[in-house]
Amino acid sequence: MTDFDREHIWHPYTSMTAPLPAYRVASASGVRLRLEDGRELVDGMSSWWCAIHGYNHPELNRALREQLGRMAHVMFGGLTHEPAVSLARQLIAITPEPLQHVFFSDSGSVSVEVAIKMALQYWQAQGQPGKSRLLTIRGGYHGDTFGAMAVCDPVNGMHERFAALLPQHLFADRPRSRFGEALQPGDIDGFATLIARHAGELAAVILEPVVQGAGGMWFYSADYLKAVAGLCRQYDVLLISDEIATGFGRTGRLFAGEHAGVEADILCLGKALTGGYMSMAATLATRRVAHGISADGGVLMHGPTFMANPLAAAVAVRSIALLLESPWQARVQMIETQLRKELGPLAAHPAVADVRVLGAIGVVETRQPVPVAELQRCFVDAGVWIRPFGRLIYLMPPYIITPAELRQLTQALTSGLALLQA
Ligand code: PMP
Repeated sequence: MTDFDREHIWHPYTSMTAPLPAYRVASASGVRLRLEDGRELVDGMSSWWCAIHGYNHPELNRALREQLGRMAHVMFGGLTHEPAVSLARQLIAITPEPLQHVFFSDSGSVSVEVAIKMALQYWQAQGQPGKSRLLTIRGGYHGDTFGAMAVCDPVNGMHERFAALLPQHLFADRPRSRFGEALQPGDIDGFATLIARHAGELAAVILEPVVQGAGGMWFYSADYLKAVAGLCRQYDVLLISDEIATGFGRTGRLFAGEHAGVEADILCLGKALTGGYMSMAATLATRRVAHGISADGGVLMHGPTFMANPLAAAVAVRSIALLLESPWQARVQMIETQLRKELGPLAAHPAVADVRVLGAIGVVETRQPVPVAELQRCFVDAGVWIRPFGRLIYLMPPYIITPAELRQLTQALTSGLALLQA
């Protein structure tokens, strides 16, 4: 069966002719993945930022089963339901007050597409259709669909391959000022120049607040974010905040924008929204944006088949309640402290370029690209699930991980460095 998988099924960013190995998982529970051969792995990835409560959670299972007994899905055109209403109510309650309107979609990338449409339609309805470009910062990642891809980092974000089909947006340099530090002199100048020069054609600025994820796992100064938000207001450009990865506590705040006290006009959420159970995302907008879109009598031009899927919404409602009822701040803080203690010393390793930790995210940046398959085998042999990419080996475990389990992850990561060239 593994061979069938290898021969017929694409995995993320892999080749059909020379795929990387894929390990078969039989089940998962708590922070452990159980492979079909019986081996158990401590999960260091939360299935790409999602499984914040761990796997096979009895309460999330129950929420799903109860909803299944009522209905798995109904169309959202002309119909609505309690899970969608409850979830929208919760999201409006926990995000900054100006965000009052919610659009549900299936995945993070689609929520970014919707955010971009909101921004463009807003300016069209205001009689300013020329405001149709986006400004972002290098090193970002916003998804794999075309609209989202066009605002991913232009170098590592696949632009070259699809250049002919991508709208040409504007890119400021990646902030140099690190998280926890003040804004370095000159760091915002490139961004400030671009927004000043192009304000008349800019619909929005889009960025990941404080933590850039798949574009390089870079943590930047909250002052930079504050400065961006100030410039957006000054030049009347909307701010789209992509908290698909950072949302729901991962950085130590419920939403990463809180580190800078920044309130966006449009907010994208996904990933941990359902505790990692189902694919679902949400785009929230302020009243100004939501009502502004219809100032010319128009409607928001999006409507996916599985919009506000009741199963996904029901499990999201329970997952958010579970998070808020839990001591998540203390848990994330404990993870942060331990990651600093156990990964920090690796900065001195000859193969390591940088180590950074924020909230429940620990990143070891290596000098050379890592041999993914080999390193992966070494991690699996050590009983952990860590999935490196490029020059990044990183940990973002479920919040319920114990200190002993986290130690297993950091020890395996440390041992794995032996495979790398300095
Ligand atoms: N934005 C960010 C910040 C992300 O990390 C991701 C997923 N890695 C996306 C958007 C795209 O989400 P999805 O994979 O669910 O389409």
